[in-house]
Amino acid sequence: MIVFWRTPETNKAIHVVSSGLKAVLTWHNMHTLQECREAVGGQGVKTENLVGQLKGEFDVQTTFEGDNNVLMQQVSKALFAEYVSCKKRNKPFRGLGLEHMNSSRPVLPTQLSSSTLRCSQFQKNVFCLRERDLLERFTSEVAQLQGRGESRESSFLVNHELAEDLGKAFTEKAILQTILDAEAKLPAGSSKDVLGLVRSMYALISIEEDPSFLRYGYLSRDNVGDVRREVSKLCGEVRPHALALVTSFGIPDAFLGPIAFNWVEANAWSSV
Ligand SMILES: Cc1cc2nc3c(=O)[nH]c(=O)nc-3n(C[C@H](O)[C@H](O)[C@H](O)COP(=O)(O)OP(=O)(O)OC[C@H]3O[C@@H](n4cnc5c(N)ncnc54)[C@H](O)[C@@H]3O)c2cc1C
Repeated sequence: MIVFWRTPETNKAIHVVSSGLKAVLTWHNMHTLQECREAVGGQGVKTENLVGQLKGEFDVQTTFEGDNNVLMQQVSKALFAEYVSCKKRNKPFRGLGLEHMNSSRPVLPTQLSSSTLRCSQFQKNVFCLRERDLLERFTSEVAQLQGRGESRESSFLVNHELAEDLGKAFTEKAILQTILDAEAKLPAGSSKDVLGLVRSMYALISIEEDPSFLRYGYLSRDNVGDVRREVSKLCGEVRPHALALVTSFGIPDAFLGPIAFNWVEANAWSSV
């Protein structure tokens, strides 16, 4: 869990992180419901299995309390302000998880083996590289437009796609860091091992699903092919733990549809 004690200094971080999390997690929610719907075929469209109801109920979350695309831009504007302020005052980055910008740009290996892809340092480097590069591109594009006499607001708006990519990069890095912090606190053992698998799954699926890695050239076509194969291997390794992982959320039975239990019995003539 990302924890902030509320002080005037942390208010900005709370605002930026919660804006990013709201957008990324509500999109993830809809994506997950659709995956669940398809994974169980026709059972997913039965009212009693609740997927349709949950989709109808949660869809609005991507729009209200701040439209997700606009929130992503808000995150990027805050990062822009932080970047400009640090550069202007010639001060190191402090806060918002931007401290990695004080070190040199990470260099990724050209060949990605299975152990490299699962290495937490590699995963962190990839996420930091994406965030750093997008932030530098965004600030440079906005500065160029402002230099040509455009207003700040219009310079942001013209670069809204870059801003949305950056907002996603920031938020996914914050999520990865949260998993790494939780993992570091666990003693060696099976829980730590399973969390490591889940963390790799999260990092590699994020890489696989974000076109930024290819679009801006952080990874090659061969690299993303390796990532895809590793995701498939991870799915096989996580599968035996899937039920225990879902059970660990402690969702009360009353909130679940028959598909979560003995769905064959629930569909038998005697139960209809
Ligand atoms: C069920 C529900 C409850 C609500 N409750 C409240 C409430 O209690 N209080 C309240 O104040 N409001 C409430 N709202 C309003 C809500 O905050 C707005 O619907 C939301 O901010 C989106 O604005 P909009 O509907 O005008 O859509 P628009 O802003 O027109 O958005 C439509 C599309 O345009 C895109 N878009 C808009 N601006 C930009 C931009 N700058 N850059 C890129 N893309 C952009 C959006 O991403 C979206 O895809 C509620 C809305 C709903 C649906």
